[in-house]
Amino acid sequence: MIITIDDSAGFCWGVVKTIDKVEEVLNSSPDEQVYVLGDIIHNPREIDRLKAKGLKTITHSNLRNLSEKPAKVIIRAHGEPPSTYKMAEDMKLNIIDATCPLVQALQNRIRKAYEEGSQIVIFGKKDHAEVIGLRGVCNDDCIVIKSVDEAIENVDFSRKTILFSQTTMEKSAFFEIKNVLENRVKDFTDGGDTKDLFITKNTLCKYVYGREDKLMEFAANNNVVLFVAGRNSSNGKSLFHICRQVNSKTYFIEDISEIDYSWLYGAEKLGITGATSTPQWYMESVKDVLEKKYNMIAAKI
Ligand code: SF4
Repeated sequence: MIITIDDSAGFCWGVVKTIDKVEEVLNSSPDEQVYVLGDIIHNPREIDRLKAKGLKTITHSNLRNLSEKPAKVIIRAHGEPPSTYKMAEDMKLNIIDATCPLVQALQNRIRKAYEEGSQIVIFGKKDHAEVIGLRGVCNDDCIVIKSVDEAIENVDFSRKTILFSQTTMEKSAFFEIKNVLENRVKDFTDGGDTKDLFITKNTLCKYVYGREDKLMEFAANNNVVLFVAGRNSSNGKSLFHICRQVNSKTYFIEDISEIDYSWLYGAEKLGITGATSTPQWYMESVKDVLEKKYNMIAAKI
């Protein structure tokens, strides 16, 4: 069996920056406790690795009660709403902001559109960490939708509206929503010009949707694909879905122990891929385990 790791898989640019920052802070703070507010990324294996180096994950309620000093608190790639920064400032905490620059730029665009009086519509998951931050920059005065039906039900078509997206949503679903809303606005204006009433900002992350074509090619070139990601990774879910549409023998695993070897029966080419939060080192561990297993079987034949 030929086992290949997808060379377009592994951490995205934003996650690389965040993890580099965390390592730098851990290395330069041997006598301080370093906290991260929420899971640093949606991948339990990487969380475990950083925990072993001293990183402690805390919740927002833990943050409120943080009295230990000196301490550093890292804001992860997903970003935070302004209320978190305010609380940290009031508590005089040492905040290290590792928000992905693309998320930061999206927050700024939403803030500006809101201040200009537009109705803000965000295609995303209401309780996802990134969306909580986006909601925060417009005082939660926005409409978060996951589907066309939710959009039609909640959007006020008489107002100037700007459609944004959480960075990690699926591209096809975003454009479907955009087209439906655009047509509705056209109906509302009796077929008139919609450009002043409805504006779409494609804020999907290029590092996620840019992977879609390569991922589809990779899925098509292997008999079986193991998709390795954290179960709560948003882009993990959407990239897995794309992979499975191309190759029905695509299996999602978070941990090596979840591999069911009957999935691999008869496969000549096995591919390993993952989300933008899946560490390269973990995909290599999956490959090593599989190669050892198959070498042992081959030696017995
Ligand atoms: S997926 Fe995109 S937006 Fe999210 S952390 Fe990576 S680079 Fe940033």
